[in-house]
Amino acid sequence: MTIRLGLLGGTFDPIHRGHLDVAVAARDALALDRVLLMPAHVPPHRTQAPRASGYHRFAMVARAIAGHDRLEACDLELRVDGPSYTSVTLARLGARGFGPTQLFFITGADAFAEIATWHDYPALLDASHFIVISRPGHDHEHVRERLPALADRFVEVAPGRNNRIVAELVRPAVFLVEATTSAVSSTEVRKRIEGGAPLDELVPAGVLDHINRHRLYAPMTTPADVLHDED
Ligand code: ATP
Ligand code: MG
Repeated sequence: MTIRLGLLGGTFDPIHRGHLDVAVAARDALALDRVLLMPAHVPPHRTQAPRASGYHRFAMVARAIAGHDRLEACDLELRVDGPSYTSVTLARLGARGFGPTQLFFITGADAFAEIATWHDYPALLDASHFIVISRPGHDHEHVRERLPALADRFVEVAPGRNNRIVAELVRPAVFLVEATTSAVSSTEVRKRIEGGAPLDELVPAGVLDHINRHRLYAPMTTPADVLHDED
């Protein structure tokens, strides 16, 4: 039996409960052996640089996954300068011996709806399976409408199915998983911190501790905060 490796890319600025829900839903629906949470160095689709450095974003991912089986923090994209293109990351994994049907690139439905704008589309769809997890306000119907050319690749998978058989297709597919994930975004988390609003349960306790300890995302209030400025 060959390994099935899940990859969840993102800015993770900061990581929140929704990201963990996505990783767990993908892991359980497709019986993934490992899921790597991979902060992007410079996300290609953003005009603004991430607020927290790659070091802090990686540290928060590492704290968030504590206690979650088969989730790992991965620095593959952070170790390469410049934009983190998924197609380049998949090619690097291919060069390390992973076949396209061993790789499962995971996105939320909002991100996958934009896949036609990604570098190396549509070729990158042949480099890996994709797992698309529904997100509050972003359903799979919208994904299907936006991407009619991909109709023959879509495979619906029930959440929590632990589906090994479907995952052993010979051609890369796009798996659609209808899961319940927390209605939260990193943008909302940052706004709450800036506005002094409580975070409630939006981020795991370890992430909250990391944010508070290092005063991430807060308005600058003391001279020591220049420590977090870009050079
Ligand atoms: P931002 O508000 O900065 O865009 P975000 O919450 O969307 O942050 P990203 O780092 O952009 O987080 O997301 C990484 C991946 O996780 C994307 O594929 C995104 O669709 C997915 N994702 C994030 N939050 C959720 C969620 N609550 N439900 C489903 N998918 C999510
Ligand atoms: Mg986003």
